[in-house]
Amino acid sequence: MKILAIESSCDEFAIAIMDDGKLLCNVISSQIDQHKEYGGVVPELAARLHLQNSGWVLREALEQSKINIEDIDMVAYTAKPGLIGSLIIGKVVAETIAMYINKPLVPLDHIEGHIYGAAIDHNFEYPVLAMVVSGGHTQIEIVNSPMDFKIIGATEDDAIGECYDKVARVMGLEYPGGPLIDKLAQTGNPERYKLPLAKNDDSYDFSYSGLKTATINLIHNAEQKGEEINKNDLAASFQKSAIEIIKIKLNRAIEQYRPKTLTVAGGVSANSLMRKTILELGKDHNIKNTIIPEMSYCTDNGAMIAKLCYEKEMFQNKNKIR
Ligand code: ATP
Ligand code: MG
Ligand code: FE
Repeated sequence: MKILAIESSCDEFAIAIMDDGKLLCNVISSQIDQHKEYGGVVPELAARLHLQNSGWVLREALEQSKINIEDIDMVAYTAKPGLIGSLIIGKVVAETIAMYINKPLVPLDHIEGHIYGAAIDHNFEYPVLAMVVSGGHTQIEIVNSPMDFKIIGATEDDAIGECYDKVARVMGLEYPGGPLIDKLAQTGNPERYKLPLAKNDDSYDFSYSGLKTATINLIHNAEQKGEEINKNDLAASFQKSAIEIIKIKLNRAIEQYRPKTLTVAGGVSANSLMRKTILELGKDHNIKNTIIPEMSYCTDNGAMIAKLCYEKEMFQNKNKIR
């Protein structure tokens, strides 16, 4: 079964083709350079660029996979959540291909896709406890099957990735600032600046607006007093607070839900401290199947949507036969 999957929810237009679970290609057109000058993603520009990029991304995907479009058995695409203009372009391209080859069209959820990005090169044993850390989401999910996702906690305001990017902007770093803060933090002292640990309560919910405001205020106060901020130390202190609360909540969630697989998903799963924290948690709780996704499957890509589609199909077919 050959699945062609389209991801276009934000500023990447991506197509992957998967054949019986094996990835044939994972083509991604990124718009980072175009959005950089505005300091963040401009929705209208993202949709217009998707329109320009969709043609060559599709041609490139078929070429790399060495197949004809008629060989595709199913077309999957990200239906939600995301920027509406960006999503519509992906949907129209997917619908056009499905109609042309007369094959089924499968609308999928972007966040479920992020979680299955971790399953591309690894096997999930259920239940899976997945920490979703991305540009728009911070949530803990229990996955019982590819058809059964339960959110046990989510952010009440800003997402962790958004918080990274906003803080980075005030620090004078380019968009997207998350990877740059991560880099600066490598040689910084995490104890140098005292920043709050947001929403340290007994829920599984998160809140990042307080940490964002506290960090930005710290920078502005220093500027007003004419004091020099050490960027490496600030990055390390910020990163420590941002991830410490995830560690605290995951420790408790693992105790309560006893997952067979522990994983992390979304753009911020590319973060070095985040990856280290998940691996340590897996070790502490003796979860043999602790999965850190490959770097190329952390931020938005088509492969994760293809994998989600494949796993849903396999699961549904298995249950039909029984
Ligand atoms: P969502 O998936 O919630 O709809 P999105 O698709 O815009 O949002 P992703 O592509 O999943 O977000 O992730 C992008 C985010 O990941 C950005 O906020 C970026 O700064 C962050 N990010 C990427 N690499 C790192 C890193 N090494 N450290 C911290 N943050 C990172
Ligand atoms: Mg992006
Ligand atoms: Fe995403």
